[in-house]
Amino acid sequence: MRKQIAAANWKMNLTYQQGEKLLDEILQAKTPLQSHQQVIFTVPFPYLILANSEVANESHYAVAAQNCYHKKSGAYTGEVSAEMLQSIGIKYCVVGHSERREYFGETNQQLAEKINLLLQYGIQPIFCCGEALAIREAATQNAWVETQLKESLFHLSAEELEKVIIAYEPIWAIGTGKTATAAQAQEMHEHIRSFLAKQYGANVANNISILYGGSVKGSNAAEIFAGADVDGGLVGGASLVAEDFVAIIAALK
Ligand code: PEP
Repeated sequence: MRKQIAAANWKMNLTYQQGEKLLDEILQAKTPLQSHQQVIFTVPFPYLILANSEVANESHYAVAAQNCYHKKSGAYTGEVSAEMLQSIGIKYCVVGHSERREYFGETNQQLAEKINLLLQYGIQPIFCCGEALAIREAATQNAWVETQLKESLFHLSAEELEKVIIAYEPIWAIGTGKTATAAQAQEMHEHIRSFLAKQYGANVANNISILYGGSVKGSNAAEIFAGADVDGGLVGGASLVAEDFVAIIAALK
């Protein structure tokens, strides 16, 4: 069975002390997990080493960076490279979150470069895609997401693609309290999987975890995750409250 994943995205929230407390509370809940289930804490850069040491003895828990730069190294003051992440033992990195696309102008081509670097350094990208409200209202979301996938991922070999986790995050549902219905999520996830299958074959497409993101909460996670092509979630707001995120972890199938 492909991996079912609950990924927390803390964004630019929590102090170091608050983050440490939150991690402790979530780990202390000792939510029973099966071998195909995984929890990932996507934390701010200054907390990566702490978070990694907190999960060091936890087989189902890992840590992700929220971003990395699209160049290998050099005079890019303030940026963090894939190689730096590898050097502190980070195994996952979110790429192309809609907030980075919108506020920092990240393009599909830059994201392709980030993905190449992450794979080169043995880090699994969590690639975010998804449409804005106007695109959903114009019913062109399938074509929009296809372009994002094509331009950032389709240069990869099948072996490389299998290392990528995809997060479908409709922008109109992020941080708005407005969740896609379980049917809308499943419909897009199925579309993404069949689009991947056309390019890479069904076997490869079936191995790729596709997470849903957009106002997932403890109260709606089980219904959303029940979709056959929904392999868990990327969770913002609700990942900042231990009780809520533990409920989301427990909702993994
Ligand atoms: C996110 O940040 O990726 C996200 C889905 O946020 P929220 O759960 O708050 O909508």
